Amino acid sequence: MPPRRSTGSAAATAPKRERSTSSSLSDAPPPKPKPSTKAKGKPNGESKVSVKPKTALADDAKAGDDNPVESNEPPKKKARVAKAKVWPPPELAPDVHPPRNGYPIFELPSTSSAKNGALPPSTSENRPMLLGAHVSIAGGPAGALLRAGVAGANGLALFTKSQRQWRSNPYEPEAIERFRSLMKSKEEGGLGYPPESILVHGSYLINLGTKWNTSYECFKDDIYRCHQLGIKLYNWHPGSTVGACTKEESFASIAKAINMVHKEVPEVVTVIENMANAGSNIVGTAFSELAAIIALVEDKSRVRVCLDTCHLFAAGYDLRTPEAYAETMKKFDEEVGNGYLGGMHLNDSKADLAGNKDLHENIGLGKIGLTGFRCIMRDPLMSGIPLILETPAPEKALEVGDLAIWMREIKLLYEIQGISDEDWKVKKDEIEARWRKERDGINPPKEKGPKAKGKATPAPRGKKKGKKEESEDEDEDD
Ligand SMILES: [Zn+2]
Ligand SMILES: [Zn+2]
Repeated sequence: MPPRRSTGSAAATAPKRERSTSSSLSDAPPPKPKPSTKAKGKPNGESKVSVKPKTALADDAKAGDDNPVESNEPPKKKARVAKAKVWPPPELAPDVHPPRNGYPIFELPSTSSAKNGALPPSTSENRPMLLGAHVSIAGGPAGALLRAGVAGANGLALFTKSQRQWRSNPYEPEAIERFRSLMKSKEEGGLGYPPESILVHGSYLINLGTKWNTSYECFKDDIYRCHQLGIKLYNWHPGSTVGACTKEESFASIAKAINMVHKEVPEVVTVIENMANAGSNIVGTAFSELAAIIALVEDKSRVRVCLDTCHLFAAGYDLRTPEAYAETMKKFDEEVGNGYLGGMHLNDSKADLAGNKDLHENIGLGKIGLTGFRCIMRDPLMSGIPLILETPAPEKALEVGDLAIWMREIKLLYEIQGISDEDWKVKKDEIEARWRKERDGINPPKEKGPKAKGKATPAPRGKKKGKKEESEDEDEDD
């Protein structure tokens, strides 16, 4: 049944930010990995991972995303796929993984030690920005951590399995152990990605917004995989009414699934993503809708929101100027509550404000523009939560091309964060022109034309085909 009034209902019970992402997520150590049958993944030996990436990743590939259980699939296919996706490629030197222990490699001022006024001192916390990208798990989930390391990311997003298959093989114990070892700090032999720096993206097939069954199984499986890997944050698209029920019934349906999964899988925090297509059957486009779902969740310590900037903009929430950004975030605080912010997807938008089109563009080169992203980077609210790029990258997503563009975007975001307000007025155009040129060199914009539309986010298209057709836009990104 409909929650009395969505607006404000969640905000009233919003967790304090201090208690939210930071403490509740990082205080609890991840559960111990299951013992491996082939004791090869000793935490101490994990620095060897970068020395012998090829071998290690080939092992992980057994549990990789791209080995979906195709009911009667012959095993030979699995072996072939695994071999083809060994990563990193040999030409990538292992020492490109910057040892960091969870802190930026780009000398990011922390929230309490900003030199140039980039971020005002935080009242209580000193948390780094967890800026990263949605990276591939080809070769196994641990491959995502290595890719994030190459891109110079402090945070990352990944799928736990093929995002377009209902079912995938369970993880091998070795893959789990390897992932957990790489998450550890540099001192412990890992790459330094603590649980709060990783935001898993759920399968695109899931729709909890109306009668669910298979969707719930897939949702629960995703979340169970997070739990296995020691990941705390799981983000997914809330769903759609598909025209079969009211929005209010959808909120209840989604909340029911959340409540159920909270009982079935421990610890993992379910992070609801805001969506782009306002006015459609899609649920979660307005803050009030997110609040309405949260209002029905029993364990509010385990529900958060991920705001996608492109989706915000598409749904009519402006971010282009400091004033517009402040206004949008004020609305979020009033209607949902800042304490519920669990992550951000940083994407510029090819489409206009309130255009209801989910078309991702590289940072600063779309309709939102650099100023909006500078606001985000300078907002202390954004520290300590994953900030994830899902921006267009070259087609060759498996190798280095996508990482090259995200590496540049990460650098750019830190650069604009550190520029003072006065300097920004002078430097903005110059930086944008320089960046556009650089971007065009790595990932030239597609020709205008029918096939040029809405392509090239890390997530392949077509995932929603055959499902929710009537309400999805053909140009949908993620
Ligand atoms: Zn999107
Ligand atoms: Zn998404």
